[in-house]
Amino acid sequence: MANSYSIGRIFGIPVRVHSTLLIFLPLFAVSFMPVRGARGLFYGALGAVGLFASVALHEVGHSLVARAKGSRILEILLLPIGGMARLDRMPHRPADEIQTALAGPAVSLLLGIACVYFLTPLVYPANQLLAVMVYTLGRINFMLAFFNLIPSFPMDGGRVFRAALVPRLGRLRATRLAATVGRGFAWLFGIWAVLPLFTGGSVDFFLLLIAFFIHQAAKAEAQQVEWEAYAQHMQQQQQAGIFDDLLHKWR
Ligand SMILES: [Zn+2]
Repeated sequence: MANSYSIGRIFGIPVRVHSTLLIFLPLFAVSFMPVRGARGLFYGALGAVGLFASVALHEVGHSLVARAKGSRILEILLLPIGGMARLDRMPHRPADEIQTALAGPAVSLLLGIACVYFLTPLVYPANQLLAVMVYTLGRINFMLAFFNLIPSFPMDGGRVFRAALVPRLGRLRATRLAATVGRGFAWLFGIWAVLPLFTGGSVDFFLLLIAFFIHQAAKAEAQQVEWEAYAQHMQQQQQAGIFDDLLHKWR
């Protein structure tokens, strides 16, 4: 993707950061500051880096399972609103897609448990500010796990929802339905984000951005599946055409 920089590889998978993340990273660092001053900023920066490392590991979870199911992982891209594992193709078998979709939240859940229940008590006696950051990261990982499981296609939960519908509805109709539900959730998130305006609060721009992203991504993926179905249909027509032609010659 344009405007992105390579920062290394995990399990042989290239990890890239989008240039806009470099603008958001200091903002995240400031919002994470556990105390004021330079020391607070240092731990805030640590938290911001930890957040994106958590997102990257969530994507590694998806990627490793997808790779085991035969997909090739092109890259993991980190954006200000989250991560994205880019594959040459999504695993198509519903069971494979469900396992791939659940692997990310499973990693986040394990990281959350490790941070909150093991690392925080371990670090606390030696460095309390670091313990606060580890605990915060743990809670963020729990949020990453549960937020992504909302059945809002194309988020992880939405992919599970779509895959579960495929055996009954077929891929095209299952995607249409999942994308409609996904866009519904996007509207709900959007409304939730601007709701504080009516009670004298401020708009949750981050959630608004996520809502917009889900809305557009649901539309784009549904269109892609429509296109795949159309291409497949044309190919079948074409093959039928060739077959007709051969029969014609034989006669
Ligand atoms: Zn995910």
